[in-house]
Amino acid sequence: MIRLNDITERVNSYLYLTDTDIELLKKAYVYSAKVHAGQTRSSGESYLSHPLEVSGILAEMKLDMSSIVTGLLHDTVEDTLATTEEIDTLFGSEIAFLVEGVTKISQLPYTTKIERQAEGFRKLILATAKDIRVVLIKLADRLHNMRTLEYLPETRRKSIAKETFDIYAPLAQRLGINWVANELEDLSFRFLNPEEYVRLASLIEERKKEWGAHVDEIKNIINGKLEEFDINAEVTGRFKHVYGIYRKMQSQNLEFESVYDVIAFRIVTNSLRECYEALGAVHSAWKPVPGRFKDYIALPKGNGYQSLHTTVIGPLGERMEIQIRTRAMHEVAEYGVASHWKYKEGKLDSHGTYEIYSTLRQLLEWKDIKDPTEYMEAIKGELISDVVYVFTPQGDLVELPTGATPVDFAYAVHTEVGNKCTRANVNGKLVPLSHQLRTGDTVEIVTSGDKHPNRDWLKFVVTSRAKTKIRSWLRNEERTQSEIVGKSICERKFKQHGLDFQAMLKNGELDSALSELKYKDEKELYLAVGFGKTSATDLLKRVLPTDKMRPGPEKESRIEKIIQTITGSSEGGVLISGYNDVMIRFANCCSPLPGEQITGYITRGKGITIHKNDCPRLLDVDDARRIDVEWDSNFKPQRPARIVVMCADRPGMLSNITSSFSSSDINISKAEIHSTDMDTAIGTFDVVVSDLEQLENVMKSIKQVDGVRSVERMLEWERV
Ligand code: MN
Repeated sequence: MIRLNDITERVNSYLYLTDTDIELLKKAYVYSAKVHAGQTRSSGESYLSHPLEVSGILAEMKLDMSSIVTGLLHDTVEDTLATTEEIDTLFGSEIAFLVEGVTKISQLPYTTKIERQAEGFRKLILATAKDIRVVLIKLADRLHNMRTLEYLPETRRKSIAKETFDIYAPLAQRLGINWVANELEDLSFRFLNPEEYVRLASLIEERKKEWGAHVDEIKNIINGKLEEFDINAEVTGRFKHVYGIYRKMQSQNLEFESVYDVIAFRIVTNSLRECYEALGAVHSAWKPVPGRFKDYIALPKGNGYQSLHTTVIGPLGERMEIQIRTRAMHEVAEYGVASHWKYKEGKLDSHGTYEIYSTLRQLLEWKDIKDPTEYMEAIKGELISDVVYVFTPQGDLVELPTGATPVDFAYAVHTEVGNKCTRANVNGKLVPLSHQLRTGDTVEIVTSGDKHPNRDWLKFVVTSRAKTKIRSWLRNEERTQSEIVGKSICERKFKQHGLDFQAMLKNGELDSALSELKYKDEKELYLAVGFGKTSATDLLKRVLPTDKMRPGPEKESRIEKIIQTITGSSEGGVLISGYNDVMIRFANCCSPLPGEQITGYITRGKGITIHKNDCPRLLDVDDARRIDVEWDSNFKPQRPARIVVMCADRPGMLSNITSSFSSSDINISKAEIHSTDMDTAIGTFDVVVSDLEQLENVMKSIKQVDGVRSVERMLEWERV
């Protein structure tokens, strides 16, 4: 087990530790030992060994003091009675924030579907972490858990190894911490595919024995060449990691024996110029393999990696890869994002976190940075994360843009889920469909067979998928509605002249007329009539001699009379008798009440909209699309109305007014009273009435209330 002293020494090698720092480490160590007391790991070791090892790894990663301390404390909130508040009091807000971050990541609901959603999970971890150090601590935590994975039962081993392979190893890779990435890959590989791992590892071991002397010989040749070229550099030779070799075998379909470049040599120089000189030195010794030279110095990799790579034919005819880079480039290659740390007396400076965070973003997105300023601007915009990650109840991860709602989510899951969604539960609580989702939310959509998209959804959905799907549903619905309306108009028009439209259609009596009018079938005709593009009379004229045409009692465009029967209570679900599927809605502009003269208007996608006859909006509309409608005298619908009352601002007014409503048997759905500065109050009452008479009566009785100055009906308002 690593001791606290080892950690302190390790940190001291790259940070100057003050007495206060050392005290803080001791304090964290003592606290961790206290709260973890009595706990053991599956290995049988005391639990404390884990936070110590994690801290040690963080020191190897050359992280800052707060990270090292957090390493010691990282499991306290998750696994003991310790609280974030307590950590905050004892160790300060920065460390409490880091511990909390690591705890949050541990609590993310991982599923077995990780492989498919790995990229989303990696982003989720970053979005959850907020600070890059949280991710690095989590990586150290995972690395130690992987090193001790053999003590866990088989199934746990496999699932943790899979998660590590799919999520954490690539994360370390992207953060540019190669040694951590390689070790995580090898450990995962070892537990996921033990036979292959053991086979390869022993083959590599053999090759190492065989080639040990050979590697030294090559190093000597390189050193000799460098001296000849007067280049000061350090040369190392190493075998590639097991999984790296396996990956190569897989991707190039090779046997181990045919993988030549299992050894990589590295030349670390003191200057950029020497990198290219060293390349020349190497190429003067051995022939390069054409097409294998890569200049990652001139064109760095997305994660900041810089190096010259070349493959040469070695003294035994074997291929050898040689990497050449400066010491600074080497730091980046080994420590990745951690090498960008900005230290100031051992501490992050105030900009540190920001810079690291932005570096992180750029590393993660693999962006080629062409113009750094432009990039920084983009980063600033993205700093507040532009995506949210939410879960299905099954634990599937769904990535959505910021501001996404349950409807966006529903459409992201499946079009039918979107089309039929009625309610949404977020983290078990019922929320409005327009609710904005947040990262980590679990979203459950309740669907219902008789629900359908609502035009209002377009006001709050943010994904183009949801918008497209809703619009396409509405367009479809518009066609269906128009077709039904068109059909009813045709039938009635013919009936008016003593003809049976459907029978004639069946007999083929309309065929020639339809084709003359260039309609492929009756459906096209219905649509044209329904949309108001043509009139049923055009068709009628072709099948009925003009002298047989009965003079219509009404104007051409107003012949159709549809009596509506209210069979449903909700607006939009109202049906017209005889035309079962025609949607009716009442216009918001004039909000007609039974007792008022009304006119129907065929609206695209909305069936028929009912306006008051004197509604100014009707003046603008195409006459051909008007339909005469009447209230059904047998049925009293419940219609909303809004009344605005101006009255004296004094106690008791509200109760006097509301009692007028209740004595008229009218329900108030909403009431609001505002005082104005002129001793006057304005009350707004949303009520439900069955007709105009009932409304007028109650308005009259309110007018008689002492102190009431005016009572008016409001026609147009924003309804929710
Ligand atoms: Mn841990």
